Parts: sequence; C-alpha cells; structure tokens
Amino acid sequence: MIYLDNAATAPMKKGAYEKMLPYLTKYYANPSGAYDFSKQSADAMDKAREQIASLIGADKNEIYFTSGGTESDNWAIKGTADLLQKKGRHIITTRIEHHGILNTCKDLEKRGYKITYLEVDEYGMIKMDRLKKSIRPDTVLISVMTANNEIGTIQPIAEIGLIAKQNGILFHTDAVQACGHIPIDVKKANIDMLSASAHKFGGPKGIGFLYIRQDIALPSFMYGGSQEQGRRAGTGNVASAVAMGEAADICRNNMKQHMDYVTRLREYAIQRILREIPFVRLNGHRTRRLPGNMNFSFQFVDGEALLVMLDMKGICASTGSACSTGSTEPSHVLMSIGLTEDLAHGSLRLTISEENNKKEIDTAIDEIKRSLFKLREMSNEYRHMVTPMSSYGKRMRRQYRY
Ligand SMILES: *Cc1c(COP(=O)(O)O)cnc(C)c1O
Repeated sequence: MIYLDNAATAPMKKGAYEKMLPYLTKYYANPSGAYDFSKQSADAMDKAREQIASLIGADKNEIYFTSGGTESDNWAIKGTADLLQKKGRHIITTRIEHHGILNTCKDLEKRGYKITYLEVDEYGMIKMDRLKKSIRPDTVLISVMTANNEIGTIQPIAEIGLIAKQNGILFHTDAVQACGHIPIDVKKANIDMLSASAHKFGGPKGIGFLYIRQDIALPSFMYGGSQEQGRRAGTGNVASAVAMGEAADICRNNMKQHMDYVTRLREYAIQRILREIPFVRLNGHRTRRLPGNMNFSFQFVDGEALLVMLDMKGICASTGSACSTGSTEPSHVLMSIGLTEDLAHGSLRLTISEENNKKEIDTAIDEIKRSLFKLREMSNEYRHMVTPMSSYGKRMRRQYRY
C-alpha cells in the first residue's frame, strides 16, 4: 500500500504510540482522583499540556484538551458568539473553511447572527482589503484557517491577527492542517484562539485542543465536572493526551528537517506530474502551501473513477476533502478558487509525509498516468482534443496549460 492521504489522517508516530501504552494499561487512574495513583495520570496530562504549549508558543494553562478539531472549532465560534452577543453579532470567516467552521456559522445564522464569508483568489488566498472592508462596529470575531485542507494554501495569519487586534476583534484560526507541520507562534501572530487535532500530526484520533488566550473568558462548551480548569468537563483522555503531547514534541524537534524533506519530495512529484501529464493544473498556491500538499485537476476524468483505479493498485489518495467523499457536490474550496465543476470533479489530492519516499512517489505517478490514460481513452471530449487540427482542442490546450 502507498498512503498519500496524510491530510485526512496521518499514521501515529511510533514514539507517541509507545508513550501512550502504559496509560492504557498500568496507569489507568482517573486523573481527578485524590490519591497518589491519580497523580501519575494528572502529571502525565500536565506534561502533555506543556509539550503542546511549546509547539505553538503558548502558556500551558492556555491549552484545553478537546475531542478534536471539530469540537475546538465549534467551541471557539459558538463560545465567542455567546460571550460577545451584547457587543455584536457579526462574524467574518472565509468560503474555504472546513465544515467544522462553516456549518457552525450556518447554525449561528439561523439564530440571527450575520456571517461574512470572504472570497479567495485563484490561489486560495483571502484578500486583505476585503477583510478590512468587511469589518463592522458589531464584528466580534474573525476566523480564518491557517492552511487549507484541500489545496494547502497558507494564509497571512500574522497580518490577519494584527488587523483583528487593531480593531478590537477576537481572532480564531483553524490550524488543524498546519499545527505540527509549519511553525506557529500564537503570540507573534496575535492569535486569540487556535484549533488543532492530534490525528493530523501523528497523534491518535479523537483528541485535539483549543488554545484560548489567557484573558479571554470563553464560556464552557461542555458542562459537568471541573476538568480543564472548569471549562471543558469530562474525565481526561489521559493516554491520548500523552500521545498528542509526545507527537507535538516530535514535530517540534524535527520540524525543519521534515519540512525540507517533504517539500523536496512534493516538488519532485509536482514537476513530474506537470511535465509528464497533459491537461493538468496544480490547484492552490505555488509556494505558500503546506509542505505535504498537492492538488491537481485532470481534465476529462472523474476524480472518483481515478480514485477507484488507484485504490485497486493499493494507492490511497483523495478527491476534494475526506469529508466530501460520498457526496457528489463539487468541493466548495475548488469552486471558490474559480474552477469549473468539471475541473473540480477531476481533482486529485495527494498529501505526503516524512514517511513517504521517492520510490513510492514514482510508483504512484506511474499508476496515475496509466489510470488517466485508460479513463481518458473513454472520453469523447479527450479524443476530440488530441485530434491535431481541432480548433477547440487548440483553444482548450492554451486555456489549461499550467
Ligand atoms: C480534519 C480537520 C478538522 C477536523 O478535525 P477532527 O479532529 O477530525 O474533528 C477541522 N479543520 C480542518 C482544517 C481539518 O483538516
């Protein structure tokens, strides 16, 4: 098997897995207990909190464990809406957010909140002048993702943070794809709240965290016991927290090395695909993109069909985002960067990690070429296109040349 879907979930880092095991067996105490046995669990969670805080430049008491990225997004948006409802009911976000943000905002709209969904340009970057213009006296929150899960585009987070600060507006960022993969400093970037998820950076599924800046009185999202400083009730997920903390440490200690390696592998793959395959475009930004992300649109093919063929060869990839699989709607992200429905449906996302190597990339590209050839052979439009004298073909070739 060749696993090229690391943005959907990444394999657990070995070090993280090994660290978590004793907390599933030997140290099973509830971290809230009054005896010494419990202290082992509580201390382990405390250490994990420190490791995570170090990864993003936060203080350890600003880190709250949650069940993952989706919960963190829900908490940040709804919590802010509740906290500041007297001040205003306007929120600014983007059209290309994860559904954890978009569907939370949709729910707020039903409750009378006004949401501005910022457009993005053809590379998936938000327009800063539009952001500034959309600020109103009743704006309480700006939520812009650090990096996009489908096309990998990285937003100018520090600039956005500064604008929010200058206007007295809270700034939240969904950093689920970025955390552990590229440097993030919440203080330098003026980030008030940040969502992340362990399974996207080598930790287990079902745990994540929300960073909440010290002085923000974000109301609790989960009522019950006094865990997580009374703000997120529920018995601590000790083993998973330990593993997430360890994964954070591994990411922090190897970040530059991993970024260099993965970026080089990505560039090699992009070059090969653009050079060897006709009628293809690279989606997203050429340089401001996550190290491991590639997203292509192949003309004259259906991404789902391509995925099935690749799957038969043991290659895991995705079209659109993991969450869109099973739906026939074209990806909202690809439509937002101006693709036609056809090109959005013909997209392939390959997301790699430091665990992939050149041999796997070569095998995958060879299979992609073979599968594309077969699928395109079945397309009348394609056959028309490759007929030498077709003027339609010439026009389309010009249009889609990368
Ligand atoms: C995966 C993802 C989420 C959701 O995280 P879960 O932990 O799976 O709930 C949110 N935002 C982005 C950008 C993601 O990629």
